[in-house]
Amino acid sequence: MFIKACGPSLTIRKMQALLRRLPFDDPNRPLIENDYGKFYAGFRGEASLVYYLSFLDDKPYLIFHDLRLPIHHHFFQLDYLILSNKFALILEVKNYSGTVYFDPQFDQLIRTTQQDVEETFPDPVSQVEQHRANLLKYLHDQKLSPIPIETLVVFSNPYTQLKTTQGNHKITKKVIHKERFLQSFQVFENKYSKESLTQKSMKKASKTLMKSHTPFDQDLLLKYQVHKETLMRGVHCPLCFTLPMEKLMGKWRCNTCFHQSKDAYIHSIQDYALLIDTEITSKNFRNFLDISSASISTKLLNSMNLSREGQSRSVTYQLKLDE
Ligand SMILES: [Zn+2]
Repeated sequence: MFIKACGPSLTIRKMQALLRRLPFDDPNRPLIENDYGKFYAGFRGEASLVYYLSFLDDKPYLIFHDLRLPIHHHFFQLDYLILSNKFALILEVKNYSGTVYFDPQFDQLIRTTQQDVEETFPDPVSQVEQHRANLLKYLHDQKLSPIPIETLVVFSNPYTQLKTTQGNHKITKKVIHKERFLQSFQVFENKYSKESLTQKSMKKASKTLMKSHTPFDQDLLLKYQVHKETLMRGVHCPLCFTLPMEKLMGKWRCNTCFHQSKDAYIHSIQDYALLIDTEITSKNFRNFLDISSASISTKLLNSMNLSREGQSRSVTYQLKLDE
């Protein structure tokens, strides 16, 4: 059962909002699009595992996608964590294409693309072992019951050719293509028969993990040196993302896909929260969504049942970032 479902990270959602709102001729666009492409490919690789994980649905496993947990003033991030009452399993998902060679001598991974370009990456097996050490530390810090922790590096692209030196058993045991996931999982299931966690301590662990999860929250305008005044204003189409929609009597209409919606503004206000601030004044709301009437703007804001701070003219509304 998925406790934390597979979905795009906060960074990906921020990048989508930024690309929606950044003018097409902005000089920063190519760099941001390139970065977004990499992040999104990584996410798609992780999402492609959901099919295999769904086979564990009828068993009492708790599955967490993309947890970011604190230990000793820094964070570590797990692509997937699967928790049972007998063992835990960390999955590190890689979406590299081409040929990858695990170099055991220097603990590095050398990827060769189809165009024969070589690139070196940190060894994912060492990476996932580091995650394992971090998770052990985390469980100890949080006073959660200890549990054996297994690790796997999963390649999400079935066409990636995996290579290493002969007899490098560390790699052949720890690195798999996603298609072999269920067989590898079965090996762990057979290995552990002793119950390490009671029902109660599993519940506690699940609760604590979700509470500790701290998404990486980056100010993208600062990172890419984009001034907020540059961003395009108006309400975007929640279906095809065209900006702006046209305001008609009590609703918005998209002139590209002709979708009509009374509450399209709710999606656009998420863009404000993702890119600018999680609190907003009535004036900024009106300006960002390009609403000509102050009374309509206030009416829409009030209809969202947001918590407020301050009095009359200086009131600010608190926006929530939907998970
Ligand atoms: Zn549209």
